[in-house]
Amino acid sequence: MGLFDKFKEVRKKVSEVESNIYHEKRDYLEIYERNLELEKEITQRTKELDDTNRRMFTLQHIWEMMNSSTPLENVLEAVVNSTQGELGYMHCAIIRKYKDEDGDFLRIIAQSNDGLIARLNNMIGAPGIQTRRLNFDPNSVFADTINQRSIIQTKAIDLSLKAILPELSDKTVKEILTDQPIKSVIVVPLITRSKEFGWFCVFSSREELAPAEMDFLSLFSKQIEMAITIADLFQAVREQAVTDSLTGLYNRRYFEESLDKEVQRSQRLKQPFSIIGIDLDFLKKINDTYGHSYGDLAIKTIAEVLKANARSIDIPARMGGEEFNLLLPGISSQGAMAAAERIRKTIENTEIDTIGHITGSLGVATYFEHSENVDELLDLTDQAMYASKRNGRNRVTLAKPASETSWQESAINTFIDILSKNRVPMAKELSEDLCNKLQFQTKEDSSQDILYTVADMLTKLYNPMHESGVVKNKVQMAVSLAKRFDLPKSDVDNLRVAVLLYDIGNLMIPQDLLQKPTPLTEDERERIKNHPLIASQEILKPISYIQDVLPIIEHHHENWDGTGYPYKMSKEDIPLTSQIILIIDEYFALIEPRPYRSKLSSPDALEIIKTDSGKKWNNNLVKEFISLVEHDIF
Ligand code: GH3
Ligand code: MG
Repeated sequence: MGLFDKFKEVRKKVSEVESNIYHEKRDYLEIYERNLELEKEITQRTKELDDTNRRMFTLQHIWEMMNSSTPLENVLEAVVNSTQGELGYMHCAIIRKYKDEDGDFLRIIAQSNDGLIARLNNMIGAPGIQTRRLNFDPNSVFADTINQRSIIQTKAIDLSLKAILPELSDKTVKEILTDQPIKSVIVVPLITRSKEFGWFCVFSSREELAPAEMDFLSLFSKQIEMAITIADLFQAVREQAVTDSLTGLYNRRYFEESLDKEVQRSQRLKQPFSIIGIDLDFLKKINDTYGHSYGDLAIKTIAEVLKANARSIDIPARMGGEEFNLLLPGISSQGAMAAAERIRKTIENTEIDTIGHITGSLGVATYFEHSENVDELLDLTDQAMYASKRNGRNRVTLAKPASETSWQESAINTFIDILSKNRVPMAKELSEDLCNKLQFQTKEDSSQDILYTVADMLTKLYNPMHESGVVKNKVQMAVSLAKRFDLPKSDVDNLRVAVLLYDIGNLMIPQDLLQKPTPLTEDERERIKNHPLIASQEILKPISYIQDVLPIIEHHHENWDGTGYPYKMSKEDIPLTSQIILIIDEYFALIEPRPYRSKLSSPDALEIIKTDSGKKWNNNLVKEFISLVEHDIF
C-alpha cells in the first residue's frame, strides 16, 4: 500500500471516529436532557408522594383517635389542626346545623386557632364565635353544597362569612380579611344517612385546588362524618345507661336526676333527705402496690357495702373513680350519721383478698338543715368528706351550714376544688402537691399561712416576678382599708377570699401575652381584659359557696369615672370591695418590677395613685389608702 492509500485510510478512520464522537455527543446530550426531565419529574412525583403521605398519615392519625375512644371534641380538634398545620391550609372550621323551636341555626363545633377566628371573635365581641348561634341562609353556599351533595370552592369569602353572620358590615368583613391572603374557601358538606348535619370549611391561599386535593378533602370529610356518627351513637347509648359497669351501682347521671326529683318531693312534703359522700382512702397506694385490678376490687367492695346497707328507696351511686354518694330520702342528719357510721365500720371490717383491709372517708349533709340549694348541698357533703380526710381518714363528718363556715375554710375548699377538678391548666405534680398542703396542714402552719402560700404560688405561675409574702400583705391591707369604711364582717370575709383569687383568670391567658415586653396591640389588650370575667364566669362560677365573692372579683377593674372594664360601671355602682382591690393591686404592681419597667419606690407609687384620684378611684379611698401606707399600720 502506497503512502497515499495509507493516508486515505487513516483519514477515513479519523472521519469514522469523528462521526462516532459526534453521534455519541448527540446521544449524550439527549441522555442529559432526558435526565433533566426525569429529575424534574422525580421531584414533582416526590412532592406528590410527600403530599399523599402527609394526607395518609393525617387520615391514619384521625382513624387511630377514633378507634381509641378519644372524645369527639379532641378528634375534631385534631382534624382542624392537621388541616391547618400538616396539610397547609390557612384556616379550617367544622360547622354543625341544629334545629330548635326558633328554627334552624348553626354552631361552630371545631375551629383552628388562628388569626381569622381571633379577628372574628374580636369583631363580634362576647359571646365568641364558638358559642354563638349562627344564621342558616337557605340561599348560601352552605345550602348549595347540601342540595348538590358536592364540594364547592368559592372565591366569595365575604359572602360565605356574611351567610352565617349577616350582621357583619362590608367594612368589618374587609377589616377581618385585611392581611389574610385567603383566595378561596372550600365548603364540604357533611352528610350521614342522607340527613344533613354540617360542613367542613377550609380556607386556602390558592384560587384553585388540584383534583387530588379535592378527592382528599372529600375522603377526609367522610372520616369526620364517621367520627360524629360514632360519637352520637355512644352518646345515645350512654344516655340510656343508668348503671356503672364496674360496680353495678347507679351512675352519676341517674344520681343527679334522682336528686332533682327528691328535692321536689322534699319541698312538697316538707321532709328532709340526706346525702352520704364516700371516698376510698389511699386507692393510689393500693393500685401502686397490688395493681389496678386490686384497686378495682377495692372499689367493688365499697359498692357491695353500699348495696348491702341501702334500703330499697335509697340511691347508691358511683360518681366517678373512687367517689360514691348515697341518697337517703326522708332521712334527717341524725339518721344519716348513724347509717354512715355503719357503712364506715363495715368497710373497715371487710377482709379483701390480698389487700387485707381498706377504709373510707365519709361526709354527711342534709337538705333543709344544711342548705336548700342542691349544688351547695353537694359541695357541703364534699367539704365534710374532705374534713374526714384531713382529720385522719376512716371517719364520718357532718357538714356545717354554709353560713357557719369560716372564710379560711371556704378559701381552702375553693382552692382544693380548683386544683382537684383541674379548673385551671397546671402541671399535675404541682396541683397534687398544693392539694396535699391544703388538705393536711401541719400544726405549726395555720390555715391562713397555707392559703397565702398557695395563692403566692399560683400567682407566680402567671407573674414570675411576684414575690412570696405579697398576697398576705395585700389581704391585710385590704382588711384594714375595709375596716376604715366600717364594712360588715361578711363583706370583709368575702373581700379576703376575693384578694386570694381575683387574678386567677390570668392562668387561662397565654403566658407570652402576659409577659410581652413590647406594647400590646388592641386585640391583645382586649384579651387580657377578659381576666375578671374568666375568673368569675368560668373558673369560680361552679363553686356554690363563694357566690358572694364573685361580684367583687368581676368588678375589680371598674374605674370610678366609668372608664374601666368589663361593664364600664361608675361611682357607687361599683362595690367598694372591688375598688379596694383595684387600688391595692395597682400599688403592689407599681412597687414590683415588670418586663417593661423597673420597680417604683413607695412614695413614687403613691404619687401615681394620687394622679388617678377621681378617675380610677374616689378621693376618699385614696386618702384612706395613703394614710394607711404612710403610717405603715396595716
Ligand atoms: P385519699 O385517701 O386522699 O383519697 O388518697 P387516694 O389515693 O385514694 O386518692 P387520690 O385522689 O390521690 O387518687 C385516686 C386514685 O384513684 C388515682 C386514680 O388513678 C385511681 N382511680 C380512679 N378511678 C379508678 C378505677 O376505676 N380503678 C382503679 N383501680 N383506680 C382508680
Ligand atoms: Mg381516695
